[in-house]
Amino acid sequence: MEPETTLLHARFPVSDPYGALNMPVYHSVAYEFETAAQMELAFTGKSPEHVYSRITNPTVQYFENRVKAVTGAADVISFNSGMAAIANTLIAIARAGGNIVTSPHLFGNTYSLIAYTLKEFGVEPRFVDLTDIEKTRACIDANTCALFLEVITNPQMEVADLKMLSSVCREKRVPLIADTTIVPFTAFRAADFGVDIEIVSSTKYISGGATSLGGLVLDYNTFDWRCSPKLRPLTEQFNTPAFSTKVRREIHRNLGACMTPEVARLQLNGLETLVVRYERVVRTCRALAARVRELKGVSSVNYPGLPGHPHHAVTVAQFGEFPGAMFTFDLASREACFRFIDRLQLIRRATNLFDNKTLAIHPASTIFGTFTEEIRQQMDVSQCTIRISVGLEAEEDLFADFAQALA
Ligand SMILES: *Cc1c(COP(=O)(O)O)cnc(C)c1O
Repeated sequence: MEPETTLLHARFPVSDPYGALNMPVYHSVAYEFETAAQMELAFTGKSPEHVYSRITNPTVQYFENRVKAVTGAADVISFNSGMAAIANTLIAIARAGGNIVTSPHLFGNTYSLIAYTLKEFGVEPRFVDLTDIEKTRACIDANTCALFLEVITNPQMEVADLKMLSSVCREKRVPLIADTTIVPFTAFRAADFGVDIEIVSSTKYISGGATSLGGLVLDYNTFDWRCSPKLRPLTEQFNTPAFSTKVRREIHRNLGACMTPEVARLQLNGLETLVVRYERVVRTCRALAARVRELKGVSSVNYPGLPGHPHHAVTVAQFGEFPGAMFTFDLASREACFRFIDRLQLIRRATNLFDNKTLAIHPASTIFGTFTEEIRQQMDVSQCTIRISVGLEAEEDLFADFAQALA
């Protein structure tokens, strides 16, 4: 079945006593048992019952299973935000004396997590231009715990060549971890391009219009963890995927950043409409990016779905017609950007991506506002750039707002 069908018709693991068509929200912290022996089995992971909702919850588990059904991942683990999903993943894999190879073009908090937070625990950050395969290969050594990247970076709109990078990872026996938040898994099958672990901020497209924060980790069980000094013992101990076992049994419970059942319920609804919403916003995004390019005062538009973009070929190879619903454009100066943003009448001045409403932001002064100008330059975050996250409004109404704000 196609993703939109699978997402609507995944069955409950046990039938609902009232025949509910939607998964109920199980507002219960703990679960009761008949006997001490049954408790022992459940608590030691030898039987699948729920015991405590920080560890698993029926509504949350149903949400994870729907994502599993549509992606074919071996395991899906949910979190209370995209950042929690990234932090749990990197903590599961990294160790003192090891390093993480990544691009300086990262979501601001991910950059800060790798450059500062993990570094203080002895994990060396290695920032490299991931579009330069030879430089990337040279950065990877025996202590590399993972290669981490975002499939389309924001706001630089750099597109990693995943086939090329995954072949370097295979050769060096390093897992490839990709944050695919910008292109949902219904439109892009990350595992087909060699991604071992996929991370998604479900706050964005999946939440169904900025209803809630959430994060997902998808383990495709494609990496041979016997190559990882840290996870090798788990491959001998359990016959489940080593990475997701480490996350589920240890990191996720110990850090406690679990998704709540009400959020899972909201995001289940978001999943049901994901395919139609995504098709619509990408179509509007492509059309607007092309039209905004022609407006007076716009010095350039950056959208990898447009022919002429430096990464257009790899974009088409990986994402087909659907490379996300975010574009950026440059004006002459920071002042011109502020003027444009202040004059908007329909488009909202806010951060976040993939709300149902179209949003505009000046990244350099906001999301990246607390970094030094030197680091902003390393990250290629320009004072002249505005980022647009395209929503579900009519294209003509959005274009009219651009035109009047630039007039
Ligand atoms: C928003 C975002 C995150 C962080 O997600 P939260 O749910 O806000 O924690 C990580 N990566 C990318 C690419 C994002 O857009």
